[in-house]
Amino acid sequence: MRAERPKVRLPVGAYVGLVARSPLYGTAAAVRAYAANLRARNGDRPLHSPPGPEDRLLVLCPHPDDEVLALGGLLQRAVAVGARVRIVFLTHGDGFPFAAYSEMRGVGGLWRACRLLGTVRQQETRAALTELGLPHETAIFLGYPDGGLHELWLTHWSPDQPYRSRYTQADRVPYENARQPGTPYCARAVLDDLSEALRRERPTRIYAPHPQDDHGDHWATFCLLTAALRARPNGAWDDELRGVYSYLTHHGDWPVPQGRWEKFPLGPPAHLAHGDWATLPLTAEERIAKRRATARHRSQMRCIGRFLHSFLRTNELFEQLSPLSPADASLGLAQDGLAMPGVFRSRYPRGDAPLRAAVPAGDLVGLVVRRDGTRFQAVLRFAAPISPGIAYHLALHPLVPPGPPLRLTWRGNAWDLPDARGQARERTLEVHLEDEMLRDSQPLLVTAWTQLGLIWVDRICVELAASHARASMEPRPRSGPRDEG
Ligand SMILES: [Zn+2]
Repeated sequence: MRAERPKVRLPVGAYVGLVARSPLYGTAAAVRAYAANLRARNGDRPLHSPPGPEDRLLVLCPHPDDEVLALGGLLQRAVAVGARVRIVFLTHGDGFPFAAYSEMRGVGGLWRACRLLGTVRQQETRAALTELGLPHETAIFLGYPDGGLHELWLTHWSPDQPYRSRYTQADRVPYENARQPGTPYCARAVLDDLSEALRRERPTRIYAPHPQDDHGDHWATFCLLTAALRARPNGAWDDELRGVYSYLTHHGDWPVPQGRWEKFPLGPPAHLAHGDWATLPLTAEERIAKRRATARHRSQMRCIGRFLHSFLRTNELFEQLSPLSPADASLGLAQDGLAMPGVFRSRYPRGDAPLRAAVPAGDLVGLVVRRDGTRFQAVLRFAAPISPGIAYHLALHPLVPPGPPLRLTWRGNAWDLPDARGQARERTLEVHLEDEMLRDSQPLLVTAWTQLGLIWVDRICVELAASHARASMEPRPRSGPRDEG
């Protein structure tokens, strides 16, 4: 069954808006990416099978408002058929100073305003859930730091060295109405919470952020879920878990066109369009309720209303991640017919967002990993020669048991880890490690990313399921028209 393709006008106004701000980025690349995204939104896609009465949904949202933007229609459908729904909000959305100041005029101090904003956003979420027909008990608020989940995942693992939010100045959950007030801000605590939610809910479907989401909190939520799933007891409810689905919220200019185009369909970004996306067309009533629920996030509507409106479309989109199987030890994976035992290789799109088009030395276009039981070798490939202005990072997270990553940064002419070797050759960076440094973890989550100052330019994230590496939870490898490494 295929979704009907609606006929729509091209948004001339949106093009004008793009050209007006394109000097910031580089006009040609931005227009190309934008036009490709516009075309991709109309593609035919299979239908996402809606939940049935026997389903138990576990939804992970990094922030209040993600539930409406990505799943406002799906949640209504689930309630209508009597499925059980539980939504875990990892943060209270308290890391948005702009909204905090515009909402809390007269409140002295940034951290006070941000904490108050967290409380306000929790109330807004409850009001939004009511609009969608969901009781308040559906939502669990964990109260971790907004804008800091990636810091927990990459750096702050232990309760002895908690992360301190630069917005609220808290280093533990400051909200009395969170699930466990006082919990230290560290990855171990989040993992415990997610593991407990999995045990308690025994979900038949999990909805979580897409691994390619540009927002650090969204990406980190995906990583933490991956680690929690891997850490679950062997065989726990495996036969009941039917699918892990991802939703996308932040990705360059996406969704295009931005703003209120409620008759338009929502398609994935062009270079992700080859994945296993499925669409859930919404009824007129569902769209009206979704619009009302979106408006309940009043503090966000004031600051980024145009972005929120961009998700009021005729459908919602979900990509199914491959089935989860920690025992999977298949050999080699390649999309170019060059599969070799123990080798993972993948290509990534070039210039797929305005920032990456403007900073090609930070645009990751290829990854090859070889792991043979004694050594770990990786080659990272970029769209332009390695530049001293870009920071190149790699994090290797063991998943069984889950633990803090081995982290490396390329500094001028060497990796900053004494036991790591490797070199830069024009557009590639190599790294060689002894495998024992990875603590014998077979499944490994590999993240490579680039930064321009504090700004993340590009990031890729793959899970290698065994020493004979294979990406098992990454969406199917993609190839696009501008995909050559
Ligand atoms: Zn979010």
